[in-house]
Amino acid sequence: MSTYDVVILGGGPGGYNAAIRAGQLGLKAACVEGRATLGGTCLNVGCMPSKALLHASELYDAAMGAEFVNLGIEVKPTLNLAQMMKQKDESVTGLTKGIEFLFRKNKVDWIKGWGHIDGPGKVTVTDSQGGKTELSAKDIIIATGSEPTPLPGVDIDNKRILDSTGALSLTEVPKHLVVIGAGVIGLELGSVWRRLGAQVTVVEFLDRICPGVDAEAGKTLQRALAKQGISFKLSSKVTSATTSASGVQLNVEPAAGGSAELIEADYVLVAIGRRPYTEGLGQENVGLTTDKRGMLANKGHRTEAAGVWVIGDVTSGPMLAHKAEDEAMACVEQIVGKAGEVNYDLIPNVIYTRPELASVGRTEEQLKAEGRAYKVGKFPFTANSRAKINHETEGFAKVLADERTDEILGVHLVGPSVSEMIGEYCVAMEFSASAEDIALTCHPHPTRSEALRQAAMNVEGMATQM
Ligand code: FAD
Ligand code: NAD
Repeated sequence: MSTYDVVILGGGPGGYNAAIRAGQLGLKAACVEGRATLGGTCLNVGCMPSKALLHASELYDAAMGAEFVNLGIEVKPTLNLAQMMKQKDESVTGLTKGIEFLFRKNKVDWIKGWGHIDGPGKVTVTDSQGGKTELSAKDIIIATGSEPTPLPGVDIDNKRILDSTGALSLTEVPKHLVVIGAGVIGLELGSVWRRLGAQVTVVEFLDRICPGVDAEAGKTLQRALAKQGISFKLSSKVTSATTSASGVQLNVEPAAGGSAELIEADYVLVAIGRRPYTEGLGQENVGLTTDKRGMLANKGHRTEAAGVWVIGDVTSGPMLAHKAEDEAMACVEQIVGKAGEVNYDLIPNVIYTRPELASVGRTEEQLKAEGRAYKVGKFPFTANSRAKINHETEGFAKVLADERTDEILGVHLVGPSVSEMIGEYCVAMEFSASAEDIALTCHPHPTRSEALRQAAMNVEGMATQM
């Protein structure tokens, strides 16, 4: 039996960051990962491969359509899908190897195989050959992540009916891709395949896309995506699917009930959310149970079992890589007696479409529901010189500030490269900045970030560029 200070189950952004921080803090740490590579969902089949395809497909689409021609660049691109997938896979391999390097650098042992909790401080790992390794540890961190939520009647086979993993490695461009769920995965991967030439229809149960996102920002994004050719069937549900060798027939009904229509597609992507993953984990051996959704509860990253901690997608909060990472660091710091903490009010959210949507803090809907008086400062990218010169003027920056104190409560951006700009407001809001603080801060010209400053100025109706 090998003995450790901390054994971490799962090598995703939660698990690998916990392992690295444990190594940095001088703990003897092991990370158990059943996949053939480290990095979890994010690096292998999530954030990174999806961003690789979003980047490549955006360039292809720009070169293919009027955008390049208008810039005076005349080319006739042809799609080499196999190469696009290959460069994505190579980037993913590079990143997962990078985590192996960081483990070596920080003296973390990667124990290859699936971990099972046998009891307090006891874990057995079963490798792909059936070999067993027994580990003991003072502390165990569960970071086993999540998996796609299945949809009854629409069975995922990853041939015709895909989950996100299947949709990230198709070998042909669909003629008609039906996406079930207008959430983040549906919009990002729907965008990839639309740009590469597919007809894309998104079927969403609710009457809006991206529930939880500021409604005005969501509507603006939907309009932009519709202009790009994605069609939306809102307030609709898929009740069954029949698969043949060449495609799928879907029965689609109004969400409120009513007569069904048949939709034909050659591929279907089921993207209706993800659920916590605890299969074969043995949490019952330390007295832990999961809730209806399969989630393990935590209080400040501790479970109800002494010495067992839980972080990332398998526990409460948004299923985001940076949330898992923050929890990892806070959790390990608590294990060594430091004051690790996560500010759940300021976890940014980004949808990497074109335009992108990025937000942090409260939405207008939340502030109204809380009865909190607020002021709004908005600034459109049509009035931003850099966006104009680049012909990327869709969207806006919106700052919500407390009516009385001017403290920034929420920021909602739809526009070019806003994923890279939201961090400015994350920092400002961590320091409890007022809108005036941003309005008085010099921003470089000409940049899209000036729109963020102008929106803050406009909280008092004082934008100078419109
Ligand atoms: P995971 O990354 O799911 O890692 C858990 C790991 O644990 C897995 O590798 C699994 O094999 C392993 N494991 C499970 N059980 C055991 C066991 N018993 N023993 C050993 N190993 C085990 N988030 C963002 O913030 N930005 C994005 O752009 C983004 N894009 C995404 C795109 C897609 C298509 C998907 C599916 C997700 C995306 N996400 C994104 C979400 C992000 O991937 C997750 O929030 C993040 O990976 C969660 O990290 P985690 O460590 O909790 O779990
Ligand atoms: P999601 O929760 O973002 O969206 C699911 C959508 O499906 C919702 O709009 C929901 O109303 C709809 N829906 C649910 N049941 C339905 C049904 N039966 N028929 C039609 N629509 C239905 O989930 P997702 O897009 O699958 O993504 C899963 C998670 O992965 C997200 O929670 C997100 O945190 C994470 N993710 C993040 C990013 C990013 O940060 N850019 C990218 C991809 C995934």
